[in-house]
Amino acid sequence: MTTGVSTCLLEEPAKKMKKINLSQSKDLFKRALESISGGVNSPVRSFKNVGGEPIFFDHAKGCHLYDVDGNRFIDYVGSWGPMILGHSAYVTQQSLLAQLEKATSFGAPTLIEIELAEKIIELVPSIEKVRMMNSGTEATMTAIRLARGFTGKDIIVKFDGCYHGHADVLLAKAGSGVLTLGIPDTPGIPESVTSNTIVLPFNNIEAVKETFSNHVNQIAAVIIEPVAGNMGCIPPAPGYLETLREITEQAGSLLIFDEVMTGFRLSKGGAQEVYGIKPDLTALGKIIGGGLPVGAVGGSIQIMEHLAPLGPVYQAGTLSGNPLAMSAGLSVLNQLDDKMYQSLKQTTENFCLGLGEIFETYSCKASINYVCGMFSIFFGVDSPVNLDEVNNCDTEKYSRFFYAMLNRGIYLAPSPYELAFLSTAHNQEILNETLGAVEDTLKNQEF
Ligand SMILES: *Cc1c(COP(=O)(O)O)cnc(C)c1O
Repeated sequence: MTTGVSTCLLEEPAKKMKKINLSQSKDLFKRALESISGGVNSPVRSFKNVGGEPIFFDHAKGCHLYDVDGNRFIDYVGSWGPMILGHSAYVTQQSLLAQLEKATSFGAPTLIEIELAEKIIELVPSIEKVRMMNSGTEATMTAIRLARGFTGKDIIVKFDGCYHGHADVLLAKAGSGVLTLGIPDTPGIPESVTSNTIVLPFNNIEAVKETFSNHVNQIAAVIIEPVAGNMGCIPPAPGYLETLREITEQAGSLLIFDEVMTGFRLSKGGAQEVYGIKPDLTALGKIIGGGLPVGAVGGSIQIMEHLAPLGPVYQAGTLSGNPLAMSAGLSVLNQLDDKMYQSLKQTTENFCLGLGEIFETYSCKASINYVCGMFSIFFGVDSPVNLDEVNNCDTEKYSRFFYAMLNRGIYLAPSPYELAFLSTAHNQEILNETLGAVEDTLKNQEF
């Protein structure tokens, strides 16, 4: 949805809100910079995309975060996706405590790995077998290797703006022409590593058709976030995923859904259940770890049996299927049912409509894209459908909005390219409080 027409012009100097005290965070960041590269263990945490310095947190409960200065925030980051039940969910804590008393790792099989695997197979339509690992990055990396090993083909097609973790092969961006081979997205990756990765614009089926006709019998797989979540929230155009499924099937290429973010967020069967499409392989992460590090690849028996030890495609992990991580993940998946998703979907919709109304009332041009449990606000543009359009949004306005909200106790993603997550702990009162803060921000022409 898109709202408003004019941009919000500041006619008088903005009445600046009193800033919250973040002095302990500032001190800790100084200290972190001495021992941790960049002071953070993942770049988006640095606040570089909004300017400023990161907040250090101490504890969290439900939808609230508490930082080291004693500030309380309503959380719309949710650890970037896993916390669908909110923070420190009772069921997860109980299950972690029980496991903690037994052991933390064996490097040998355990019952709880089977239980989580069985649960994933029960819930995700296309998955007949899984392999657990430690992160979403490992999951997509393995899916790619498996697709290449299974098909005997080399080329991988991915989409501009989709993020699949930081494996070398997938860290490619589009070259200057639309249909060129991918070029490395970062120093440290030889061109030879991404020379079999083709990067196409999201939501453009013609580009996919052209690529398949130019590379007959060479494409191992197409990997996609079925709802893109790493350039803000960009849902697939009607028929887009269906056509991708047809094209890949006809060409003998695999379709990989990266559901690290959408899995168990859009519905209990993920985006594939919502859109009714069965990918050949699915990468999972985030929610299946319940806040602990987990990733998984799943697919048909035929494909999954190509993994070692049954098959020739190698994959391994010292801590894979770690009992603590499995117990946290299982505690979350055991809570999921259709009713919960109906309610989360309705809540997301009502909240986003409410946001849109406020922006419209104050003539602030913004578009809000949303699906169940996740949404993003793009300032100054109509609802974008691909990365090029996302890049036209007003990122400075997002930064000002981010700080205006932060000072009112609302913690949004510290980057205009990341989306916002809702959990089952975000009740009506919390959401109204948030809408109130947004309205107050606009009323005071703060951004
Ligand atoms: C987060 C994410 C990943 C990477 O997962 P990590 O656990 O951070 O390695 C991969 N794909 C998508 C779609 C993601 O959102």
